[in-house]
Amino acid sequence: AAKARGRGCAVVFDPSLFAQAQERFELENDLRGAIERNELEVFYQAKADLKSCHLYGVEALLRWRHPRRGLISPGLFIPIAEENGTIVEIGHWILHEACAQVKLWHDQTPDGPLLELSVNLSPREFRQQNLVAGVAHVLETTGFPASCLHLEITEGVLFEDIDAAAQVLRSLKDLGVRLDLDDFGSGYSSFRYLRQLPFDLIKIDREFTFALNPDEPSSEQLIRTIVSMGETLGMKVLAEGVETEPHRSTLQRLGCKLGQGFYFSRPIEAGQMKTLLEGNASRSMEDAA
Ligand code: C2E
Ligand code: MG
Ligand code: MG
Ligand code: MG
Repeated sequence: AAKARGRGCAVVFDPSLFAQAQERFELENDLRGAIERNELEVFYQAKADLKSCHLYGVEALLRWRHPRRGLISPGLFIPIAEENGTIVEIGHWILHEACAQVKLWHDQTPDGPLLELSVNLSPREFRQQNLVAGVAHVLETTGFPASCLHLEITEGVLFEDIDAAAQVLRSLKDLGVRLDLDDFGSGYSSFRYLRQLPFDLIKIDREFTFALNPDEPSSEQLIRTIVSMGETLGMKVLAEGVETEPHRSTLQRLGCKLGQGFYFSRPIEAGQMKTLLEGNASRSMEDAA
């Protein structure tokens, strides 16, 4: 019988596959109502100027504090939320939560440049009809300045229907928000499409940073190429995955101005981020003095 079903077809009972399916089923069940039960949290990770190490912005990153399993990372549950559609509600929740939080930080530090906030949009969020109205509503109710909000979108979202995507991007731009292309280089990056799309910033996928190696000139040349492409297109460029001082200094030498990664800070809770930002602000005051 196994033969008849064709090769590669698992007819034998595989306990580990069963456990995986079981886990997924449980998570999917638990995810419904996670917002109402206050189990979702926003962590923040600093974005920094590679030269001065000044922290000029934060990216909001979702965490799920599961009552039995503890802290679950988005890599595990966002695909589930994406599949069953709960991502739309979750996405709206984190956008509101993060805008309200960073607005509070703005209000607490009225002088100096306002902190930027980046929020990720998944493919399903990007395709939903109410996206633009939802973002507008959050900006209005929180009073968060549109020009400080960056929405991060991955390449995969764009190429399904490039014309439809371009139209949504333009409507978002009309709200005054910024658009960042996340994980650039990890998918089917197309320079041709990029030219036609109103992105403000390109985030170089962290794999390019990890691949940096003094013995492999091509690893540096790739970064240079993306940086100069960004310059040509009038887009800023940020490198992900900056984990070490050599990462920071090499990227800076290659012309990249902005970075994000464990070298500056891991994603941390709002309270910890506030402390980090306060140190940042007093350091830049010393620098100025
Ligand atoms: P992303 O948007 O590319 O976020 C960066 C991820 O890289 C984060 O993982 C962050 O913790 C990790 N990272 C940052 N710096 C370093 C580093 O120096 N080294 C290494 N090895 N990793 C670093 P995280 O928080 O687990 O998030 C994973 C992905 O889940 C995100 O990738 C994003 O695509 C998605 N995600 C997170 N929060 C949300 C959200 O609120 N909505 C949506 N739609 N997706 C989200
Ligand atoms: Mg991101
Ligand atoms: Mg990314
Ligand atoms: Mg990523």
